[in-house]
Amino acid sequence: MDAKPKEAGSGSPSHLTLRDLTKQFGSVRAVDKINIEVKGGEFVTLLGPSGSGKTTTLQMIAGFVEPTAGEILIDEQRITAPAYKRDIGMVFQNYALFPHMTAAENVAFPLKVRRTKKDRMRQLVTEALEMVGLADRGNSYPKQLSGGQQQRIALARALVFRPRIVLLDEPLGALDKKLREELQLELKRIQEQLQVTMIYVTHDQEEALVMSDRIAVFNEGKIEQLAEAEELYERPNSLFVADFIGESNIFRGSFTQSNGHYSLSTGKRKLAVSEHAEPPDEEAQGTLVVRPERLKVMNASADAKPRPDQNAIQATVKEVIYLGGERKYILATSDGENLIARHQVGTGEVEPRPGDEVIACWQIEHGVAVFDQPSRGKQPEQKE
Ligand code: ATP
Repeated sequence: MDAKPKEAGSGSPSHLTLRDLTKQFGSVRAVDKINIEVKGGEFVTLLGPSGSGKTTTLQMIAGFVEPTAGEILIDEQRITAPAYKRDIGMVFQNYALFPHMTAAENVAFPLKVRRTKKDRMRQLVTEALEMVGLADRGNSYPKQLSGGQQQRIALARALVFRPRIVLLDEPLGALDKKLREELQLELKRIQEQLQVTMIYVTHDQEEALVMSDRIAVFNEGKIEQLAEAEELYERPNSLFVADFIGESNIFRGSFTQSNGHYSLSTGKRKLAVSEHAEPPDEEAQGTLVVRPERLKVMNASADAKPRPDQNAIQATVKEVIYLGGERKYILATSDGENLIARHQVGTGEVEPRPGDEVIACWQIEHGVAVFDQPSRGKQPEQKE
């Protein structure tokens, strides 16, 4: 795709506020008092499993669904205008192009509705088509274009009138993996070039990690955590987030303190916990989360011994999976727990094989303590 069109995206990008936004459908509370502040020019993703309230939230911002309670503000102004007057661009999963119009006519549509002058319209349409890399396909009809091309046209149509905010609902969901990955990067680049505020809905955590400035993780109509990708991954604030974003080793138990040191007692073992993770009360229940790449696997017979600043668990290698650049180890402990570890390939270290007796260890600092909060939504099953 080419450089930024001169006209598009000028002016300062809009700031969006959702305040205690709620939607009740009969007995279903689809969206439950959510609060989000999106800065101008920010790319925020609403991520969560099916039915967690992402689309309903987007549709309330767009004006297609009336909130039951709460407020939506754009640039500090409460918005109540009908959908077509909100100056919001939208892109859906199913392209939603008009089949009887050419690509250029589709892109021109929002400008026609706004009674833009003909010359100006021609110029803006050309620039928008250039921006999505389809300057030569303006005369094609949607059915003559591939899925990826149709979605680029849909994006050009959403951007051509310089909307205050662009909302995208699983826009790449219908495309194959390779094309999806290509378009993720292009979409992000366009968003950065235009400095337009974008709200993006997906249930695909990798997509969210690649594209977003910040991610709001939805669970049963509530936002579990709203943070940058790295923070969600490294410091999840709930078991739900830890489990939804990436893979995890999860140990459940009660947190105890002795001599100023915290540990987690699982019943089967006692694991040291970072001194920064102070439990909210004595005997707090919760989970210790250890990411697979933090788990080091050493052959038990080798000289290597865990250090005092590490937790160590004996296990047997069940499976070794080559992932290109990385190996994934599935380990079984004598208690029947499964652990997952990931190692970079080619580091020169001895690589354990299936059947090997190993010690899995991690630095105490790398275990993330997540304390139970009874008020939270459904927590995922423990993976053991
Ligand atoms: P998906 O990824 O499957 O689209 P989502 O996270 O976008 O899921 P929503 O579509 O917002 O979730 O749905 C949230 C809840 O609200 C679900 O329980 C859904 O069944 C319900 N719901 C959504 N729209 C309506 C409606 N028009 N009438 C009744 N219930 C609805």
